[in-house]
Amino acid sequence: MSTALAVHGGAPVRTGRAWPRWPRPAAGARAALNEVLDSGRWSIASPYLGAPTQEERFAAAFAGYLGAAHCVPTASGTAALMTALEACGVGAGDEVIVPAVSWAASASTVAGVNAVPVFADVDPDTLCLDPAAVEAAVTPATRAVVVVHLYSAVADLDGLRAVADRHGLALIEDAAQAHGAVYRGRRAGTLGDVGTFSMHHTKVLTSGEGGAAVTDDPVLARRIAHLRADGRTRAAAPPPVGLPELVETGELMGSNRCLSEFQSALLVAQLRELDAQNAARRANAERLDALLAADGFRPQTSAPGTTDRTYFGYAVGLPEQEFRGLPAGLVAEALTAELGLHVRPVYRPLYESPLYAPATRRRFDLGPDHLKRLDPGRYDLPVSRRVAAGFLTFHHAALLGDESDVRDLAAAFRKVLAGRAALAR
Ligand SMILES: *Cc1c(COP(=O)(O)O)cnc(C)c1O
Repeated sequence: MSTALAVHGGAPVRTGRAWPRWPRPAAGARAALNEVLDSGRWSIASPYLGAPTQEERFAAAFAGYLGAAHCVPTASGTAALMTALEACGVGAGDEVIVPAVSWAASASTVAGVNAVPVFADVDPDTLCLDPAAVEAAVTPATRAVVVVHLYSAVADLDGLRAVADRHGLALIEDAAQAHGAVYRGRRAGTLGDVGTFSMHHTKVLTSGEGGAAVTDDPVLARRIAHLRADGRTRAAAPPPVGLPELVETGELMGSNRCLSEFQSALLVAQLRELDAQNAARRANAERLDALLAADGFRPQTSAPGTTDRTYFGYAVGLPEQEFRGLPAGLVAEALTAELGLHVRPVYRPLYESPLYAPATRRRFDLGPDHLKRLDPGRYDLPVSRRVAAGFLTFHHAALLGDESDVRDLAAAFRKVLAGRAALAR
């Protein structure tokens, strides 16, 4: 075998074999979609037809799976976050502490409720929000903390809960990447005041687009329900057949962020396969952890207290000494060429991300003071910078295969480590 890197024209580590596909239609998914197609009811806002909506069924199934008292499905993870923030009382001018390393929605949703995202640094091993950094970022204007369980980690929820309680802040858990993870005997998403999920195409539980907010607090659940259905909620008892099931209480103005009946029906089927898929990914990730750690790579870790990890992405740190001065993007391209799999650097710090650009939207121009508070230019967080420069990630589908896939992954990392000098030129 040639030792020249594939990115320079050498023979790639892996050829000819496809990676597992994502998404995977669950058993019964097609039948569930057909049932909705013929049912005459495609939305929760359409007339009652004598049976619970698919949305109600999914909400009950997902709440039961997580061990949450209430689940309100939403059109997206973004919608779940927006409703969670507003349900917790976050609004005009409030500060919300979010991790600097995350998907753009962590910042855009806070800005979207006229509040100010305050970026805090992350832990260098879990890549999740660091409780000490949160503590340091609290001001009299802080109203909430949104923690993200990133890639395959659960954040230090004990530490974050303590900070939130000390300052009387709402703790929102963004579990968009952690469906099924367990921390101290409880599912991720059920440890904060509200937990939010995304069912986007890429996520481990998906209906293409979709989301949910979960909580044990009936008052918060009712607020979220109103916020996601134009100020309407389901009546305590169903109406006569043919009449609308949602009642216009006017308690709280909302927007339409409802999940369709197709998506809900699909999620009921997909949820049945989540645990088996999470377990398969976990077993392969643990094998890969061992192989990569033996070569000096630093697989992402999860906070102490995590018993079941889930893998939205596999993330691993490059050996710092060996890769010093080599941009993570170049190493990622080399791995992508070896594997035929998209390997990429982890999220850039949000304050440097082209996707967080509040000045591009006039709706955020609530005065010079507000725009200045939204300005990402005032941040430089050392751990986030180091993480972005030194960690790579790839999508969880690559962990749904067998041991030979894991061997290919490890072989590619080993080959690029050995051939790194050629990348520097
Ligand atoms: C995917 C994701 C979201 C947004 O979910 P959408 O369904 O795409 O709106 C929010 N936060 C995190 C951490 C995510 O990964």
